[in-house]
Amino acid sequence: MSDRYATFARSGSGRALVRRLGLPDPPRLRRYRPGDPLVPGPVLLDAAPNGRMRAPVAILLGGAGVEVRDPLMAVANPLTTPTDPAAPASPDPAAPTSAESEATAAAGPETTVAIAPAEPGTDQVPRNAALIFDATGIIDSTGLRPLYDFFHAHARTLQPSGRVIVLGSPPEVCASPREATAQRALEGLTRSIGKEFGRGTTAQLVYVTPGAEYAIESTLRFLLSGRSAYVSGQVIRVGWQPADQPYVDWDRPLAGRIALVTGAAQGIGAAIARVLARDGAHVVALDVPPVGDTLAEVANSIRGTALQLDLTAANAPTRLANHFAGRHGRVDIVVHNAGITRDKTIARMDPAWWDSVLEVNLSSQERINDVLLARDLIPTGGRLIGVSSIAGIAGNRGQTNYATSKAGVIGLVQSMAPVLVGRGITINAVAPGFIETAMTARMPALLRQAGRRMNSMAQGGRPVDVAETVAWFASPASGGVTGNVVRVCGQSLLGA
Ligand code: NAD
Repeated sequence: MSDRYATFARSGSGRALVRRLGLPDPPRLRRYRPGDPLVPGPVLLDAAPNGRMRAPVAILLGGAGVEVRDPLMAVANPLTTPTDPAAPASPDPAAPTSAESEATAAAGPETTVAIAPAEPGTDQVPRNAALIFDATGIIDSTGLRPLYDFFHAHARTLQPSGRVIVLGSPPEVCASPREATAQRALEGLTRSIGKEFGRGTTAQLVYVTPGAEYAIESTLRFLLSGRSAYVSGQVIRVGWQPADQPYVDWDRPLAGRIALVTGAAQGIGAAIARVLARDGAHVVALDVPPVGDTLAEVANSIRGTALQLDLTAANAPTRLANHFAGRHGRVDIVVHNAGITRDKTIARMDPAWWDSVLEVNLSSQERINDVLLARDLIPTGGRLIGVSSIAGIAGNRGQTNYATSKAGVIGLVQSMAPVLVGRGITINAVAPGFIETAMTARMPALLRQAGRRMNSMAQGGRPVDVAETVAWFASPASGGVTGNVVRVCGQSLLGA
């Protein structure tokens, strides 16, 4: 359904009126198109003293062809070539740690780390596409000041649809309560920046487990690119991944993978099927027999397979397992997207409505996972991905059944993640906010308008925004990303 307010607000006359009256001003979001550069400009990188992420980030982004501006490394890194030799070296009071120097040296002379002097925001120098701050070195609340210094100085240098990423250490593994306190404080900063910067800026906090510094590449790429246009205010955890990582073709990271997407005939499921296929996967698109025609259209358009099956049928897990065992011998990516709503306040709700929502949205997924895992059909490197909802985080009037099922999906992720680590399988979930689909088109008009505007982007998301997030979880390079529930909600005011 089209968002007529957004169309008006972006028109010549609408823009002036919206600004004069201080109405919500939905920006055009930078979304990914194949062939786009990872970021449309330089990335400014800085760190608190003794941060462990500065060198890995510079090396990973340099390897991805991104221009990294780092006031410290422009001086200290012997491998780098400032792009503007006339610009003065920018001094930084913090000396490089030996770990940083070693990590940089370990990259070898072939590594191209294009570092430019930090002088953003002038007419001559392009504005920053992203601001990244490594806060892993902060071990006490009195050490939080460099965050203010960095973002105060550079907030205005960011392009529209810019990216802010703060890197920290998971509070639960910090050496002292003081350090855990300071690291937890980072959440308030990033969530506030997401609400403050506007113009399509996204802001995220990524907690990186010590030792997993180089496991963040797929996450960095996702967060910097247009794939994360509608993801903001999130806290993401990245941990260790197996050492023997497969080679990743970043244009087709899922090449050779077999994926199952449930509820794929329309809406978010169809978008997930298309994005996974675009990234190289063979997709088995599943939905109920009554929508067989539209399911076949989706499957044919991506050269996938259509599978008509009601997930709640008693024999559904066995039929699915037999399908994958017989055709492919395995299934690498399982996306549990199918979902239904049956809304009524609990006092008025028919028991059948409670049962059907819980069955489709939660219990059938558990049964299918159990059978696929028991028959060893999900190999090492496998990816289980659930679709929760912000209603599962905040609750919602008239949706006790739905919110229970979606909170259960979060429970499934959190309880299964540690169990699956030993098998090299990750499990994560997306929690969409207001996404423009048939499901939200059925909402009463006023509620629909509120859902669209009550987020930092002042607009609804698109099914592709959820699909891109699923594709990041599905990537073979995301082995360190497990146990996460990431909202795709434009930083909705609901469910904070
Ligand atoms: P949709 O209603 O457009 O599509 C859901 C699909 O699931 C349909 O094609 C339906 O036929 C299929 N399905 C339902 N029951 C099934 C069963 N028993 N077996 C197999 N397939 C079945 O919904 P959507 O908006 O695309 O939502 C997709 C997922 O995202 C759902 O889990 C939903 O709860 C979740 N979600 C959506 C939004 C939103 O704003 N649209 C927000 C939060 C969460």
